[in-house]
Amino acid sequence: MTNPAVENVKREILAQYRERTRSSLALRKKAAQYLPGGDTRSVSYFPPYPFYIREGNGCFLLDSDGNEYIDCVNNMTSLIHGHAHPDVVGAIQQQAVKGTAHAAPTELQYRHAEIICGRIPSMDSIRFCNSGTEATMFAIRAARVFTGKNVIIKIDGGYNGSHDYVEVNMKPDLTAADLPRARVEPGVPRAVLNDVRIAPFNDLEAMERILAAEKGNVAAIVAEPVLTIAGGIKPDMGYLKGLRSLADTHGVLLVFDEVITFRAGTGGMQAIENIEPDLTALGKIIGGGLPVGAFGGRGDIMRIFDPTHPDAVVHSGTFSGNALTMAAGMATLKILGRNEIDRINRLGERLRKCLKKALDQTGIPGQVGGFASTVYVLFSEAPWRNAREAVLAAAPTVEYAENLHLALLNRGVYAIGRGTLGFILSTPMDEKTVDTIAMHFKDALEQTKPIVDDALT
Ligand code: PMP
Repeated sequence: MTNPAVENVKREILAQYRERTRSSLALRKKAAQYLPGGDTRSVSYFPPYPFYIREGNGCFLLDSDGNEYIDCVNNMTSLIHGHAHPDVVGAIQQQAVKGTAHAAPTELQYRHAEIICGRIPSMDSIRFCNSGTEATMFAIRAARVFTGKNVIIKIDGGYNGSHDYVEVNMKPDLTAADLPRARVEPGVPRAVLNDVRIAPFNDLEAMERILAAEKGNVAAIVAEPVLTIAGGIKPDMGYLKGLRSLADTHGVLLVFDEVITFRAGTGGMQAIENIEPDLTALGKIIGGGLPVGAFGGRGDIMRIFDPTHPDAVVHSGTFSGNALTMAAGMATLKILGRNEIDRINRLGERLRKCLKKALDQTGIPGQVGGFASTVYVLFSEAPWRNAREAVLAAAPTVEYAENLHLALLNRGVYAIGRGTLGFILSTPMDEKTVDTIAMHFKDALEQTKPIVDDALT
C-alpha cells in the first residue's frame, strides 16, 4: 500500500529537481535524437534524467541551468585535482601547440613512466594505453602469454572495465551458491566463460578451492585491492597477503587493478598494504583528466612487449601515450605528493565521521565506509564484506538512495548514487567543503526520512 506522506516527499523532491533543471531536460530531448537515451555513457545516467554540464571549476560544477554543485563524483574518481587545475591546464596548453599525438615516441612518455615506476615498487616497467579497460585487457593478455595458461579468476561483482573477459559477473551472483555462478553481460560470448572463474571478495578459502580445481590452467588472479564499485569494500586483514601467497603456491600471477585505488597513496594501495603484485593496471588520475590507462609490473613479464624481440607481443593504440595525456598526467602527479594525498585522505576520514553522525542523529540505519579519499554510505547495518552482501544489504533501500541522491542534487551536492551513495574527494576541497557536504547530507536525510522509514517497515 502506498503511504501518502511518503509519496508527497518523493513528489516534492522530483518536482524540485525538474524545476531546477529545465534546460537540462530540453538538452536531453535534443540529444536523444542522436544518442540513445540522450547520453553516450551508461554510468552517468540516473532517473529521471541527469543534469547537463556547462563547466567545471575546482571542486564545483555548473549545470546548463546555472545551478552549482560540489562535485563529489570527479568523473568517477579520475579528477583528483578537480576541474581545470591551473597547472594541468597550463601543461595541456603548452603541449597542445606542439602537437597532441605523434606516432613516434616522446620524452614525455618515459618521464611519466619514470614517475609512476618510481612511486610503485612492483612496477619495473609500464606501457601506456587509453583507458582502464585497455589496461586490464593487456595485463590479462600479458599474464596469459607469460604463463602459457588461459584461465583468469575474477572477483564476483567487481568492475575491471568493459572488455569481454571482465564483463563477467559485473553484477554479483545473488544466489547462495557454494561458489558464485559465472554469467556474462549481454553481448559477451558465453565462450568467455571457458576461461573465467569467479571468486567472492574477501574469501581466500573459495580462491584456494578454485585454484586447486583448476590446477595447471590458471594464468592470473585479477582483483582490486579494495572492491570499489560495491561501495569501497576494504580487504579483510590478511586477504591481500593471502592472495599473494596463493598465487605463489599455485604458480599463477597476481594482477592488481589499481585504476581507482592508486589515489590512496603515492604507491597506490599495494604500497600501503605492502603487497607486490606481478602486474598492475592503472588509469584515471594518471591522465590528469584526459583518457588514459597503463599496465605494467615485473620486468621479466613486461619484456614480452619489447618489439626488438622476435616473438614480441603486439600492443598498439593510436593514442596510447599521446603527448597531451602525458603532459596532463605528469602535471597532476607533480602536485600530488604524499602531503596532499594525506590531506585529502584525512578529509575522507572527517567526512566519514560527519556522515555517520548525521545518520545517528536522524535515526537512519546505515554504515559509512570507503577508503582514503573515497566515502560510501550503505543504508543498512548488515555485513558488507563482498559485492553479494553489499547488494543484498542495499536492496530494500535502493529507491530510498535514489531519492536521497536527488535531494542532495537539489541542495547542490553531486554524489555517486547506485544503491550506495559515494563521495569522491579532490584536492581543491578543504574542511569547510566537507562540512558543507555533511550539512546538506543531514538536511537531505531529514527531508527523506519518511521514505526510508516506510521502506524498512
Ligand atoms: N577498473 C576499475 C577498478 C574501474 O573502476 C574502471 C572504470 N571505472 C576501469 C577498470 C575501466 O576504466 P575505463 O573506464 O578508463 O575503461
